[in-house]
Amino acid sequence: MHDTMKRTNLKSFAAAALGAACLVAQGAEWPEPPVINPGPAGGIPSDAVVLFDGRDLAGWRNAAGEGAGWKIEDGVAIVNGTGNIFSRQSFGACQLHVEWAAPLPGDQQGQGRGNSGIYLQGRYEIQVLDSYHSKTYPDGQAGALYGNFPPLVNACRPPGVWQTYDIIFHPPLPDDQGGIVPGSFTVLHNGVLIQDHVPVTTATTAAAFQGPAAEGPLMLQDHGNPARYKRIWIRPLK
Ligand code: MG
Repeated sequence: MHDTMKRTNLKSFAAAALGAACLVAQGAEWPEPPVINPGPAGGIPSDAVVLFDGRDLAGWRNAAGEGAGWKIEDGVAIVNGTGNIFSRQSFGACQLHVEWAAPLPGDQQGQGRGNSGIYLQGRYEIQVLDSYHSKTYPDGQAGALYGNFPPLVNACRPPGVWQTYDIIFHPPLPDDQGGIVPGSFTVLHNGVLIQDHVPVTTATTAAAFQGPAAEGPLMLQDHGNPARYKRIWIRPLK
């Protein structure tokens, strides 16, 4: 049988089985999706919260609640030893886009080579590290859910070259019996899938975990290496 005929017959069969009235009712139940402007390729979606666009760190604070002290140079925020920084706004489930670059020269090794980190809710770290031709333990390399899941592949670009993380995060949440409903991470590194809906149940830094929460600030780690950040935006998810 010709493929087109097969498809036509299947379609007719499906319509007959479900009934035209049913199809209309199904269609009527869906609200129209909101229209957003995705911008040009590599742009910022119109419904995103822009956390850093190269100008200033006004949307960020240090651990003491004062202004973030990282250096801004030529539209880039550079880790400079003044401590971790936190977004002033809190977030729950979200889509997060981060552009980062490992420092030059890439002459350190392992966890000392361009170490930083992106902590969702200040608790759950997606590792930032220069893992380009540099080895460390797998669940501590770039793109790892630190201490839990290594990335599926090492998609690192060389130090000094801009890289992207696109992160889809759902937080773990408390259940009715005092337990935890696992959350999840899906991560693309430079457009390549490296975390495929992995579960998250506890903080990646044990000392910081005070139970799951619906929302928390985004934290960028100062690990003493001059990692660089360029553009950071986030879309809260319902
Ligand atoms: Mg780190």
